[in-house]
Amino acid sequence: MKTNSQNIAIVGSGFLGMTVALRLADAGHRVTIFEAAGEIGGLASAWTIGNYTWDRHYHVTLLSDEHTRGLINELGLEDQFRWVETKTGFYSDGELHSMSNSLEFLKFPPLDLISKLRLGYTIFKASRITDWRELEKITVEEWLTRLSGRKTFEKIWRPLLLAKLGESYKHTSAAFIWATIQRMYAARRSGLKKEMFGYVRGGYANVLKRFAEVLNEKGVEVRLNSPVQSVEKLANGTFNVRVIDARRKTDLAEKYRTHRTKYAAFNSAVSVAAGFSGAFLTEPEPTPRRRRSDRVAPPPPEEFDRVILTCPSSKAAEITPQLEGREHLDLANIRYQGIICASVLLRSSLSKFYVTNITDNSPFTGIIEMTALVNKTEFGGNSLVYLPKYVDPDDRLFDASDDSIRETFLAGLEKMYPRFKRRDVLAFRVSKVKRVFPLPVLNYSEDLPPMRTSVDGLYIVNSTHIVNGTLNVNETVALAKRFAGELLDELAAGGAR
Ligand SMILES: Cc1cc2nc3c(=O)[nH]c(=O)nc-3n(C[C@H](O)[C@H](O)[C@H](O)COP(=O)(O)OP(=O)(O)OC[C@H]3O[C@@H](n4cnc5c(N)ncnc54)[C@H](O)[C@@H]3O)c2cc1C
Repeated sequence: MKTNSQNIAIVGSGFLGMTVALRLADAGHRVTIFEAAGEIGGLASAWTIGNYTWDRHYHVTLLSDEHTRGLINELGLEDQFRWVETKTGFYSDGELHSMSNSLEFLKFPPLDLISKLRLGYTIFKASRITDWRELEKITVEEWLTRLSGRKTFEKIWRPLLLAKLGESYKHTSAAFIWATIQRMYAARRSGLKKEMFGYVRGGYANVLKRFAEVLNEKGVEVRLNSPVQSVEKLANGTFNVRVIDARRKTDLAEKYRTHRTKYAAFNSAVSVAAGFSGAFLTEPEPTPRRRRSDRVAPPPPEEFDRVILTCPSSKAAEITPQLEGREHLDLANIRYQGIICASVLLRSSLSKFYVTNITDNSPFTGIIEMTALVNKTEFGGNSLVYLPKYVDPDDRLFDASDDSIRETFLAGLEKMYPRFKRRDVLAFRVSKVKRVFPLPVLNYSEDLPPMRTSVDGLYIVNSTHIVNGTLNVNETVALAKRFAGELLDELAAGGAR
């Protein structure tokens, strides 16, 4: 190990935390990742649905996602990619339409020809704009109405914005739609003939398993079930990282005890790997429920030279009491969008579309039919569908039981697809996350807290720093590489203590 090797803690084992860990370990630093959950991967983690393991939230890679592909390549999984040309549907005025090519767009009944031309022009115009900063100063509603017209805004854009942003679209800048359209056009700009969608066989569970192995080979320690409670700088210049007491370990172990599935096997593989804690997941013992008095004592705080937080900003503010008041305020003020996302395993397909956009009223804000992309053999010939509903973190749906969400969502499917039958539902699971991505409000980038905080050696890096893009693994990996590069430069320039 190099003499100036630093002992670095990373909070969060999402793609951001793990990619930063990889780069720092490669440069010879000692890295420990603290993860609150019982598995790695964060938003891209996997879970079981019925007897199958797949992503908790739908994930697709674009052919133009160079950073994701680079990472997958580095993990040795490039040959496991499968690339597919997918179709897009639009559910509008009670009917399902295909919108997968220009001809279908021209035939699209809900809009007259002039409106279609204006819509097409808006998308073309957005694809040509290179300076997004100007777009941060204008609301997305004003910008889209100016280019597409009020009618098209109400008929198409407003439902699509509501689907992703809820009523908060009113405070969102035009940079949001620009970034979305730019991602759609990335393939064409890079010279690829058409956009293809891809996934790694076995889904993100496969990628994460390999990622865990590579991190382990490089000496990175990963502590599962370790929610960081506080990060405090000491007088000697190092940091104390304190984890909440280990009682939650028991709760998680109990949760997994009832789900002995393929994924539990994956957890085991990760857990037993040297450097990974959380081995209690490996062999769930049939012991009775622990009592409060069995509480495990909190582990003593650990000392590190530097700490990098990759959790959402409000959580970062909570665990870093030494930041300046202004920084706390800036972090706490970042508004997030949450999600309720149901995974539904079905005996048969709903449609041929990977994405179905919905402009009518519906309990969910879109339909992602994963098996229009992923080979059905991954699910024993069944279909996997995701029903996402993007909501404000304070939305009452977060308090609703999974059963009531199931009832409402399945009723929505019955209304949209007359052939859909409840008896075809083999499994239904609900994921709820309050902080998924920051809302790109007006002048977003101007008030953004920097990654380097006022406390020397403490960094906060998360999806809020994806300022000119949408939330996806490609942007996340790109951000991780940029940050790690800056930190390594800082250390090389003598920043090391
Ligand atoms: C519904 C949905 C669909 C998506 N679809 C796609 C897609 O098709 N393609 C694509 O490329 N991307 C997609 N994404 C985006 C992708 O999942 C994210 O870009 C990526 O996972 C973000 O990684 P991250 O590390 O920044 O954050 P996260 O994954 O959120 O990681 C943060 C981690 O910090 C941990 N943490 C929080 N607080 C603490 C604490 N106090 N102590 C310790 N640990 C803590 C969390 O448990 C979590 O593991 C999708 C996301 C969602 C939600």
